Amino acid sequence: MAILPIIETPDPRLRTISEPVEKVDDALRALIADMLETMYDAPGIGLAAIQVGVAKRVLVIDLQEPEEEGGEAVRDPRVFINPEILSASGDLVPYNEGCLSVPEQYAEVQRPSHIRARWLDEHGKAHEEDLDGLMAVCLQHEMDHLQGILFIDHLSKLKRDMLLKKLAKARVRAA
Ligand code: ZN
Repeated sequence: MAILPIIETPDPRLRTISEPVEKVDDALRALIADMLETMYDAPGIGLAAIQVGVAKRVLVIDLQEPEEEGGEAVRDPRVFINPEILSASGDLVPYNEGCLSVPEQYAEVQRPSHIRARWLDEHGKAHEEDLDGLMAVCLQHEMDHLQGILFIDHLSKLKRDMLLKKLAKARVRAA
């Protein structure tokens, strides 16, 4: 397993439309293991393969609910290969989103509160589930990456420009 470098905006690779996975094999499972390690190290709750430069329709998510206040986070990795949203509720909910490719910047994005989704897991097994809450938000955010979309694309131009300016300033300070 290895921690992979995470690509950050404005790297044009983040705008790539990822290709469907044709075979769930050991090579793909090795990539998934690396993606999980990279996500836990960051730390983040979701990562799309394109964020480590691989244009395949693969996502990992772990909402890492801590067992108790201040307790150790319990790992619950979920793998989504070739995910599809079959239906989405009409009602939108706001969530303050962030992204490992837009480091330490957060903004409220509105998305459907309930979705029905279909995907393959790391063993090639098909799943279909109704999702809501943070899992629905996170899956929609990560699926956007497969289309080359970032959460900042959902903001007004004014908000997006402000956020990118803050990111540029943070990078100068860190340099
Ligand atoms: Zn993201």
